[in-house]
Amino acid sequence: NQIDAPGLDKETLLEKDRQYVWHHISPHNPNPMIITSGEGSWITDIDGQRYFDGMSGLWCVNVGHGREAIADAAAAQMKTLAYYPLMQSHLPAIQLSEKVNEWLGGGFRIFYSNSGSDANEVAFKIARQYHHQNGEPSRYKFISRHRAYHGNSMGALGATGQAQRKLKYEPLSTGFQHIAPPYCYRCPFGKNDKSCHMECAQAYDDVINWEGAESVAGIILEPVITGGGVLVPPQEYLASVREICDKHGVLMIVDEVICGFGRSGKRFGHQNFGVKPDIVTMAKGITSAYSPLSATAVREELYEKFTGSGADSHFRHVNTFGGNPVSCAVALKNLEILEDERLVERAAALGEALRRKLEVLEEHPNVGDIRSFGFIAGIEMVEDKESKIPASAGKVMQVIAECKKRGLLIGKNGDTVPGFNNILTLSPPFVTTDEELDFIVNTLVEAFATLA
Ligand code: PMP
Repeated sequence: NQIDAPGLDKETLLEKDRQYVWHHISPHNPNPMIITSGEGSWITDIDGQRYFDGMSGLWCVNVGHGREAIADAAAAQMKTLAYYPLMQSHLPAIQLSEKVNEWLGGGFRIFYSNSGSDANEVAFKIARQYHHQNGEPSRYKFISRHRAYHGNSMGALGATGQAQRKLKYEPLSTGFQHIAPPYCYRCPFGKNDKSCHMECAQAYDDVINWEGAESVAGIILEPVITGGGVLVPPQEYLASVREICDKHGVLMIVDEVICGFGRSGKRFGHQNFGVKPDIVTMAKGITSAYSPLSATAVREELYEKFTGSGADSHFRHVNTFGGNPVSCAVALKNLEILEDERLVERAAALGEALRRKLEVLEEHPNVGDIRSFGFIAGIEMVEDKESKIPASAGKVMQVIAECKKRGLLIGKNGDTVPGFNNILTLSPPFVTTDEELDFIVNTLVEAFATLA
C-alpha cells in the first residue's frame, strides 16, 4: 500500500501537504493521516497502518471500501458517455430516478445536484417557488432546529442550528427560524418520560403561529439529528410534525443526507416513522461516496406546479455536474449491491447488535447516555452522571485518540456551541462483521478505561 516512488515518500508528501492543501474544518493539521487505500471496513495509511473506518468516512461509505464492481461501472460509463447536461437526458439518470422513486415508495420526481448542501438549497428554492405558483407567494420562511446541520452554503448554513459553524459567515440567507430539538437526555422543555407531552413537536405549531402560517414555506429536519449529536426523537414525533405541517399548509422537507440508503435500518430514515415527506434530500449513501451526487426528491403534486407552458413556471436552476452520468451509474451499482447483498437489512441487524453490546459502557462514570438509530450510535460523555456536565474536550479527545492508537477511527458531534462537543459517534460500513463489532466495542471499553 505504501507509495514507493521518488518524491512520494511520506515526509515529502507531508511537506507538500503543509505547503498546498487546505484541510476541511480543522485548524491546519501539520500531520494528517495520508490514506492510501481502503478495503471493506478498513483503510490503510502511508505507513501501512490499518484502521477500522468506524465513521464510513463521513457517514457515507456504506457498502464499504474497494468495491471493484462500482469502479467497473464508473469506467464503463465514462467510456460510453462521460457527460451531458440534464436539460436533456441520459440512460443512467433515467434508470436511477426510477430506482430512487421505488426506494421512496413512489410518487416522487428527482432533481440531481452534487452535495447534500446543494440538495437542500434546491429544496428551499423549489419550496418557495412552489408557493408562488400555488397562489401563496408570501410563504418564504423555513423552520429548522438547533443542533441540526444542513450544509455549508448560505441557505443550508442558515438552516443549520449550530452557532460555531455560522460565526464570521453571517449574515446568512434570511428567513430561517430555529426551534429546540427533541433531546430527551437534556429535554429543552424540562420534561421527563412521565411528564413529556412532546412539547418539542408542539414547538412547530407555536412558531408557525407566531411567525404567521402565511409566511412559512416549509420545515426541514433530519429523521434523527445525526452530526448534531445522535438525537433520537420520541417515536410519534415525526407523525405529529407531519400533522402540524398539513394543518398549516407548510411543506415538510426531510434531510436524508445521512439517514438515507439504509443507514437507518430502512431504506430511508423517515420510513421508520410512517410519514410521507413533501421533499426528501439525499447525498452521501446514494453512491456510498464513490462519486459525488445528491438528489432532491419532490412529490409529484408539487412538481405539477412547475409544468405550466409559460417560462415563468420553470424551475430556473441548473447545476453543471448535477446528475453526472458516471455518478448516476455509480449510484445504480451501489443500490444494486445494497439490494443484492441485503445490506439494508444487515445494517438494521448490526445496529441492533451494536446497541446491545454498547451497554457494557453504561456503568462508566463518563458515559451519560448511549443512543442509537439504525447503524448509527452516539455516546454522550459527561463529567459525572449526576450533574450531566458535558465532558471536557480533553476527555473526549483522549477516548478518540486511544481508539485510534488501537486501530479504530470514531467521530464526534460537530461544532455546536462551546462546551457541547461531547458526543462520540459511530457509523460503520454495512459490511462490518460480527467480529469487527466486538473489536469496536472492546476498543471503546479499553479507551474509556484510560480515563482516570
Ligand atoms: N445534511 C446533513 C444532515 C449532513 O450531515 C450533511 C453533511 N454532513 C449535509 C446536509 C451537507 O452535505 P455535503 O457536505 O455533501 O454538502
